Amino acid sequence: MLTDLIQIRRLARMHDAENLEFRRHVHDRHISDHPLRERVSALLKQFDCTQCANCCRQTRVPVSADEIAEIAACLAMEAAKVRQLYTERGDDSSETLLKQQDDACVFLDGGVCMVYEARPEACRQFPAIALHADLLGNRLPSVCRQAAICPVVFEALEEFKHLTGFRPKASPG
Ligand code: SF4
Repeated sequence: MLTDLIQIRRLARMHDAENLEFRRHVHDRHISDHPLRERVSALLKQFDCTQCANCCRQTRVPVSADEIAEIAACLAMEAAKVRQLYTERGDDSSETLLKQQDDACVFLDGGVCMVYEARPEACRQFPAIALHADLLGNRLPSVCRQAAICPVVFEALEEFKHLTGFRPKASPG
């Protein structure tokens, strides 16, 4: 499996037009996403996410009041203190976890989440492909976006394209 994150991002960008075409291919043929979800699940079992943790660098994590309370309990702190030290409020008053200077989530230490047991739902669900039983439909664009940051999703998506007999007309670039 390709794990070089720079290469993955570069290739995923090159596949932008191809992925659009693939989304039409899946939609027009009513292709089930089951093989993709199965492959993601299998690859996640083999892959050591702590060696990558790119999702913890490339995504902004929303947190609810309940999730802040769980993080506070995990850190043995007051929720207000967690809010003050580790979250920020957006224009729409939603809250997200702060980022470190290198864009990593405030709770990422090396490749390890310091609040793993209390991590927010958005983190638990990433990449959110293996967990749902419906057709990809509207979620295929987000799968294609995730492929640019996650080696597991990138690999599974490329395999899925091949499996469905997809032959891109769009030339990369
Ligand atoms: S809370 Fe933990 S799992 Fe979620 S982005 Fe931050 S470091 Fe990663």
